Amino acid sequence: MTTHSAIPTVKLLINGQFVESTTSQWRDVVNPATQEVLARVPFATTEEMNAAVASAKEAFKTWRKTPIGVRSRIFLKLQQLIRDNIKELAAILTAEQGKTLPDAEGDVFRGLEVVEHAAGIGNLQLGELANNVAGGVDTYTLLQPLGVCAGITPFNFPAMIPLWMFPMAIASGNTFVLKPSEQDPMVTMRLAELALEAGIPPGVLNVIHGGVDAVNLICDHPDIKAVSFVGSTKVGTHVYNRATQNGKRAQCMMGAKNHAIILPDAHKQQTLNNLVGAAFGAAGQRCMALPVVILVGEAQSWLPELVEKAKSLKINAGCEPGTDIGPAVSCSALDRISSLIEQGVREGAQLVLDGRNPQVPGYPHGNFVGPTIFSAVSTEMTIYKEEIFGPVLCVLQAASLDEAIALINANPNGNGTAIFTRSGAAARHFQEEIDVGQVGINVPIPVPVPIFSFSGSRASKLGDLGPYGKQAVQFYTQTKTVTQRWFDEDEVGGPVNTTITL
Ligand code: NAD
Repeated sequence: MTTHSAIPTVKLLINGQFVESTTSQWRDVVNPATQEVLARVPFATTEEMNAAVASAKEAFKTWRKTPIGVRSRIFLKLQQLIRDNIKELAAILTAEQGKTLPDAEGDVFRGLEVVEHAAGIGNLQLGELANNVAGGVDTYTLLQPLGVCAGITPFNFPAMIPLWMFPMAIASGNTFVLKPSEQDPMVTMRLAELALEAGIPPGVLNVIHGGVDAVNLICDHPDIKAVSFVGSTKVGTHVYNRATQNGKRAQCMMGAKNHAIILPDAHKQQTLNNLVGAAFGAAGQRCMALPVVILVGEAQSWLPELVEKAKSLKINAGCEPGTDIGPAVSCSALDRISSLIEQGVREGAQLVLDGRNPQVPGYPHGNFVGPTIFSAVSTEMTIYKEEIFGPVLCVLQAASLDEAIALINANPNGNGTAIFTRSGAAARHFQEEIDVGQVGINVPIPVPVPIFSFSGSRASKLGDLGPYGKQAVQFYTQTKTVTQRWFDEDEVGGPVNTTITL
């Protein structure tokens, strides 16, 4: 039997040092395919969290004045280090989170793209200048860093989402306190090690661990100027309200219930393959998954083929080659998914594919649930209303594109959506009428690359500016507008002027 002392502990990162927490409150980090305890993560004490913020505040004094080229080169180095270590990072991620190794590499890669983008901060943090706004007067803007910023991240992308946050914040001259998900903090810590190796100075990046108390401390701490959050709608709403009431900037990217629309003129095989990948990949634990599909008109006859394709997916541990679907992140996630499936049956939806209790040789204790499909789903049912965050697809029907659009716009969430069609006119109509942040046209998971920013509408987002891209630079900086005039030595002073002209 493993004793607690033999299990590695996850460290805090405070002022450039990886330190052991003195807390008495710990949580196990568990491999969801095997239930093996991989590590123990601390819930940091208030003193430790305050020390992290204090070190970020102190480091800001010099970091804010660090030349662009120095900041930029650190992220150039970091992108190389991530590239060099991507297999190791993916293996850590798969062990603690469960997703397949190729998907874990994708998780790291989508974060790496933001690091590459942060390396171009010199072109992103440019102000504007207007020459001669009055005689001999120029006005220009400076985009200056805010100070200490903080990030709170979810379990489902433990590499990508921390990388959405700290590279852009730090590249634009801020210092940072990150609180990763307590369910899978290990890959995030490996990224923090690489960030220090790349040259991020002590105090510029700090990492604390914990749950509710850590999140509330971040929202309340007077020295933290801005909070980035990604996670569920319930927690994100709490973070937004609490942080903004305390005068901070906040950006909260939250829950989802993304719908796909399939029109009968769509490319059938491509569409069904894309839908199956997006509904069941990563065991449905993506905020941009497609857990609802609306089959329009004749496309309603495609259901049997959809079910056959879903049946062909391989359920296994994420580290096994050829796996399509790994385990749910935790036993409680599996219980929640299973009970929602039961509720769907009770409420009268038709269970056309039941993925519960799959047999996975070699992994009898994994949190596995296979592809599950409900047809005859109505918008009143719990399986439609709740974010299941598992490999469960709800199939709805509509007679027309406009009926399908109305359905999506009536759902409270507005994170992502996709339409499959060969009609440019239908796609454009969809693009114009749909009230959702990320829109895919024959693209199932339209997560924008970092030259754009991630978005969201209605209950999926609070705050104006999104993570990464141009919007992140605006979020992490304060615009200062300078209006200047210089007098020539021999200029004769005019009369005192008491009106408001320049
Ligand atoms: P979560 O909201 O449970 O946790 C997110 C963070 O909040 C974690 O760091 C956690 O420690 C903390 N937290 C949890 N409960 C808390 C509480 N009661 N009070 C204060 N803090 C608390 O989310 P999760 O389960 O880790 O992630 C899945 C959710 O994230 C889904 O809803 C998914 O749609 C969403 N998500 C959204 C996006 C997006 O960009 N919109 C991206 C990824 C995930």
